Amino acid sequence: MKNFDLNSIIRSNIQSLIAYSSARDEFTGQADVFLDANENSLGSPLPKWYHRYPDPHQSAIKAKLASIKSVGAEQIFLGNGSDECIDVLLRCFVEPGKDEVIVCPPTYGMYEVSAKINDAKLVKVPLLPDFQLDLVHLENKIGPQTKIIWLCSPNNPTGNALNRADIEMVLNHFSGIVVVDEAYINFSRHKSFVQELADYPNLVVLQTLSKAWGLAGLRLGMAFASPAIIGVMNKVKPPYNISQPVQELVLKALDEVGQVNDMIRLLVDMRNALMPVFANMPTVEKVYPSDANFFLVKIKDADQVYQFLLQKGIVVRNRSRVTLCEDCLRITVGTEAENTALVDALADWLSQKGWEAAEA
Ligand SMILES: *Cc1c(COP(=O)(O)O)cnc(C)c1O
Repeated sequence: MKNFDLNSIIRSNIQSLIAYSSARDEFTGQADVFLDANENSLGSPLPKWYHRYPDPHQSAIKAKLASIKSVGAEQIFLGNGSDECIDVLLRCFVEPGKDEVIVCPPTYGMYEVSAKINDAKLVKVPLLPDFQLDLVHLENKIGPQTKIIWLCSPNNPTGNALNRADIEMVLNHFSGIVVVDEAYINFSRHKSFVQELADYPNLVVLQTLSKAWGLAGLRLGMAFASPAIIGVMNKVKPPYNISQPVQELVLKALDEVGQVNDMIRLLVDMRNALMPVFANMPTVEKVYPSDANFFLVKIKDADQVYQFLLQKGIVVRNRSRVTLCEDCLRITVGTEAENTALVDALADWLSQKGWEAAEA
């Protein structure tokens, strides 16, 4: 690692910040009369203990995640979705109006939106045509104000994993924070970077319960990093960012790793069955390789296909105006019935256009 010095990249106002100390932080030991937090002591219209503030440290969830992911609890930050993790990282390290972040489009849109909200200077280093990192261009764009490089692997919307050696190259040569967003890692054949935290003090790995875990509605994102980086992020987050019902439901869900792994296997099998069906359609120019629960398809008249599917009540993601994704639709793998409905609708589209749909 090229001289990574965490203290030199933390914003100075965050460096000197004394974190909010919640009512529950200030006592240790046993108590059963809580008159410290101005809650409603009589209860609430709901059963259970929702009249109490939730654990600001989310200790129970972190203990369980630590064992699932084989990391220390002090290496875990929890956010209201990965989107909160992204925002908190910017607020920790990027001086508004002055510092820069690098994104590698086409990629997840929130890196750019969140950078703009935080008035970070946005530097774009597009992926190569095979959707891998352009390391030469990337190196040229790194400057003294570059604080964060956002990498997404497997990448959204392209579906591919980035070459591991390329990510390692960035980690080894950049002395700011490298974020590897692994929202889709559970669908991938590739190994997570969570196990590499000991080797890279500048690494932050993002994961989420929104995709493979099937819990997009709960909003739980995870950042894994050194205890020092996690400590800075904890200072910046709102103290009660994960609500009590979400904490309870996440704890329950984390006991069902087996069920989640069954769903992942099924989704990957359906993806592998669906991709060749698309590849055989006469107006499909390319189906890009996928390590995720979606895949990108380059198809003639993508805009019209998108509109046609909408009329049939099927929504896919139109990426046809995204650089390097011209004429591309991003298809999420659905249930068996949904996938069949999609394929049938496309067969209708083809026959309307005078094409013979190929046999699946
Ligand atoms: C879906 C997705 C996320 C998840 O965001 P949440 O806020 O956790 O729902 C993060 N990163 C990428 C690349 C995604 O596609």
